[in-house]
Amino acid sequence: NVQDIVTLHNGVKMPQLGFGVFKVEGGSQTVESVKKALEVGYRAIDTAAVYKNEEGVGQAIRESGIPREDLFITSKVWNSDQGYESTLKAYEESLKRLGLEYLDLYLIHWPVKGKFNDTWRALEKLYKDGKVRSIGVSNFHVHHLEDLFANSELKPVIDQVELHPRLSHQELRDFCQKHEIKVEAWGPLGQGKLIEEPTLKHIADKHGKTTAQVLIRWHLQHDIVVIPKSVTPSRIEENAQVFDFELSLDEMNQIDSLNLNERFGADPDNFNF
Ligand code: NAD
Repeated sequence: NVQDIVTLHNGVKMPQLGFGVFKVEGGSQTVESVKKALEVGYRAIDTAAVYKNEEGVGQAIRESGIPREDLFITSKVWNSDQGYESTLKAYEESLKRLGLEYLDLYLIHWPVKGKFNDTWRALEKLYKDGKVRSIGVSNFHVHHLEDLFANSELKPVIDQVELHPRLSHQELRDFCQKHEIKVEAWGPLGQGKLIEEPTLKHIADKHGKTTAQVLIRWHLQHDIVVIPKSVTPSRIEENAQVFDFELSLDEMNQIDSLNLNERFGADPDNFNF
């Protein structure tokens, strides 16, 4: 069900399906969306300092009345805060905005050249001090991970990357599996752009499900952690109703074959923010 879990390499358990809040406006839109998500069963929330909605996420958590230990909250250190001391400070500021005493997962948002290894040392420090339950990265290619391994002590538990049938990242997935790093998909619906894709639509119709549900199901069956976003209450619920059907091997293969290594978002080797 919507609270199905995966176990990270440090033993921490995390829901495989979570709720993402990129581009959800801080204030009431965030509070209402996150409350709706918690109501329909999501227990993992993915935010970031740069989304400017951590306060709203915190308010929704408090108003939901759900015990803190039943939730899995992720945030990310933004690029301008990277570096050792500034990351330690950024973490405290995220906690303060969320009104939480700890995060379940803290991620390096993007692999900022010349900085991400120092940022990672700060995450290791937070982890060893018991301030965060697990640490990971986002938007890291294989070469970024190799660089990190060569310069650090702990391995990330997760790499959160843009991933959907048009960008299926087989090489990265194989590499991460070998190193016991879970892959987490952002933009699993192609940021909305894959909803009309004919192959997906056809498969969805056969199951009496929606394209969004087929996309989320494809991630789940590939053992990928997935965090679709919506601010529409009916869609928040729809995106969680993905545990009552199964894609056949043939359907999985058809969806796999849609890969074009095509990004909708920025390239981790070439971003300037
Ligand atoms: P997504 O693939 O989840 O797409 C969201 C969009 O799809 C919505 O805005 C809406 O237009 C559409 N949609 C959602 N549900 C639908 C439904 N049932 N039917 C039809 N259309 C639907 O894209 P995303 O929000 O970019 O990614 C998900 C989460 O991943 C984010 O909210 C954020 O938490 C995270 N993320 C992380 C990074 C990163 O750099 N680490 C970058 C982008 C997003």
